[in-house]
Amino acid sequence: MLARCFAACALVFALIVCDSRAQEEQHPSHLDGINADNIDWKSKTEDYWHSVLSRKRFNICRKGGTEFPHTGKYNSFYEEGIYKCSSCGLALFSSKHKYNSHTGWPSFWRSISRDAVGYKPDRSYGMMTTEIVCSRCGAHLGHVFNDGPEPTGKRYCVNSVCLFHERRNF
Ligand SMILES: [Zn+2]
Repeated sequence: MLARCFAACALVFALIVCDSRAQEEQHPSHLDGINADNIDWKSKTEDYWHSVLSRKRFNICRKGGTEFPHTGKYNSFYEEGIYKCSSCGLALFSSKHKYNSHTGWPSFWRSISRDAVGYKPDRSYGMMTTEIVCSRCGAHLGHVFNDGPEPTGKRYCVNSVCLFHERRNF
């Protein structure tokens, strides 16, 4: 009986921890009240990112991980606005270029500007792909593929945790 009670308490505690982590993904609080444009984000150390990002954000955005398909906050999210880098706050994508690729990840047919996103060859899956990164802080965002819709034919496949959405009416 005691063991069962203990197990139930542990489960409740685990759910609370998971829930607080999930809420942590909502908005990157380390960007609140600072002028993100005046910071040398590329000089930030791994210890810094570890201290300001949730574990999930750190593993995906700083370590090149990938969130499970259909689990990200923005996969089925189509409100108007700007998507910014959850590490440094740089504007990366716009809702104007978002579409449903049915892949399980948020998809865009272009970045918000030519300079916002950087491109790196990636051979880690036994084939040649192109990694996309934030041009300001180097955060891993996802990959870009050539099976997107017109007019670019590109599919920017992005992890939700590497973004946060700011509402804007176009
Ligand atoms: Zn960034």
